[in-house]
Formats: sequence, C-alpha cells, structure tokens
Amino acid sequence: MVYPIVKYGDPVLDREAENVTEFDTPDLHKFIEDMFESMYAAKGVGLAAPQIGVSKKIAVIDVSNGEREEDKLVIINPVILKSEGRQEGEEGCLSIPGFREQVRRGKRVTVRAQDIKGEFFEKTGEDLLARAFLHETDHLYGRLYILHISALKRDLIKRKIKKKQRAGEWE
Ligand SMILES: [Zn+2]
Repeated sequence: MVYPIVKYGDPVLDREAENVTEFDTPDLHKFIEDMFESMYAAKGVGLAAPQIGVSKKIAVIDVSNGEREEDKLVIINPVILKSEGRQEGEEGCLSIPGFREQVRRGKRVTVRAQDIKGEFFEKTGEDLLARAFLHETDHLYGRLYILHISALKRDLIKRKIKKKQRAGEWE
C-alpha cells in the first residue's frame, strides 16, 4: 500500500517519534513493505515513518532507487554513533517538495540501529548513504534538513511554503 507523504507544516514532522519495542510482528513486516512501496512511488532514496504520519522510529533507505536489492536498508531506533569528514551537496525532502538546498553533512557516518527482528547492528555509509543516515535519523527526532541551512534561506523557504498554503497548493 502506498501512503501519501505528509508535508511540512504537519506537527508529526516536528516531534520525536516513539521507540519501536515490538519486533518481527506481521504488522511491522507489512508496514515496512508499505514504507518501501511509498518511498519508491515518491521516487525518494529514504523515508521516515513520520513522513507517512506514523510517529515511530523507523526509516527505510535505498540509495540505488530499487536497482540493487542489497541496498535496501531498514533502520529502527537509529542513533548516529560517528560522523566524520565533510561533504557539500544538494539535499531535498519528500515532505518539502519543490525545494533543494546545499547542505553540509558528514562524509562518513556510522549508525547503530535495530533490524526488523530487533537485532542491533552498526553500519557505516559514505557520501549519499551517509547523508541519508543523517537526514532520516533527523526525521525521527523531529528535525528537518532546513535546520542545517542558513536562517535567511530557511525563512525564504518558509515564506514560499506559506504562500503555497494560502493558495491551496500545499495539500
Ligand atoms: Zn526528508
């Protein structure tokens, strides 16, 4: 099932999501399947549960865009352990459609998370995967990428979104 993506302005995006405590249930398997389906439908490389209105610490990532099965990643209750180096690059968010900004992020990032069965694992990613770990983990703590750009640029984006909201072009 493809869920609609929640847009900027919905309070579910601003609060820390709840920890997942039950693993390997049919509901969790189905939900994660739906998250991948929703992410691919929206042409994203990452999706956090709050973006489909579910305040739980679950994110799915696939930097290959469905090309390579081994790139499908599920991170549950993730914590960033380490972020090293720097990368500059454009970043966007499915919840803030139509905008992209340069965002400085760590180049090599290690995340600790649980898998669908509740097993803990650590994974290190570079470049786009490092960026996805940071972006998606941020979502699960109520933080959006526009926090990492200048206040000036952020205010400009917020003003443009307000205009769209008034015009009925933002849901
Ligand atoms: Zn996002």
